[in-house]
Amino acid sequence: MLRVVILGAAAGGGVPQWNCGCAVCQAARTEHPELQSTQASIAVSADGDHWFLINASPDLRQQLIATPQLHPKAGKLRHSPISGVILTNGEIDAVAGLLSMREGWPFTIYAHPNVLSILKANSIFNVLNEKNVQRQPIEVDKTFEPTLPDGSPSGIEILPFAVAGKSAWYLEGEPHPAGGAGAGDTLGLRVGDKATGKYFYFLAACAGVTADLKSRLAGAPLIFFDGTVWRDDELIAAGLGNKTGQDMGHIAMSGDNGAIQSLAGLDIGRKIFLHINNSNPALLRASTEREIIERAGWQIPADGTEIVL
Ligand SMILES: [Zn+2]
Repeated sequence: MLRVVILGAAAGGGVPQWNCGCAVCQAARTEHPELQSTQASIAVSADGDHWFLINASPDLRQQLIATPQLHPKAGKLRHSPISGVILTNGEIDAVAGLLSMREGWPFTIYAHPNVLSILKANSIFNVLNEKNVQRQPIEVDKTFEPTLPDGSPSGIEILPFAVAGKSAWYLEGEPHPAGGAGAGDTLGLRVGDKATGKYFYFLAACAGVTADLKSRLAGAPLIFFDGTVWRDDELIAAGLGNKTGQDMGHIAMSGDNGAIQSLAGLDIGRKIFLHINNSNPALLRASTEREIIERAGWQIPADGTEIVL
């Protein structure tokens, strides 16, 4: 049995974002607190006792408090059910939460060598002593099974694969610590339960849907997919920024090349948007954009939602 808890569904900044007065952020602060959402991360477990985070958002501390499955076991002085963190990219909203896990509990970080080199190049992450917090490089197109603290297999099989994307925003115009152009900086994951064969896909960042990606996702029981913006020029049109979704490595929900259109008709069981920016009007429950995504079979999840596969 694969258990998934959606710790947060929002893109960088969350909902509401500290310095934002857009319609969604304003509503989330006032009459619609149900719109509040923390930054994207999920937790997954095959046995219900040991959990792996997929990305560690800056809101991790708040997310752990809100998630009983991730609380220390009763009667233990020091404990966490978290056995590891799998990173799909090096963006701040995927890695900053690691700094909230610095209190000496052993766990393993699984990430592409490019992302590990980013952590290594930023000495603040040395607070996670490598004796306690091992770094395990993962390879594109090579299945791995994260392990439990005692070294035994977790029962979770993960296949990382490269998707169209960008290096972390803060590396723009900087030499990449890994030396190369940043291929491998954005990963999708296929996460499966070895015992039952059940699986899902996780793509919190994806700049475009290729034919290859379509055939990969076809027939999947569940996908979490990049829902950053409704339309590519959304931030510019709203006067909130000067970058398009594509500039940031994110596909739009709408449009001919958008996620909804590109992933239609692929017989995917459950489609959930994740990493949704507060500028995205589909967050507003009474919006036409929300109606469109729901009619197309997509969901925007509430933080804390648990799914059992
Ligand atoms: Zn906003």
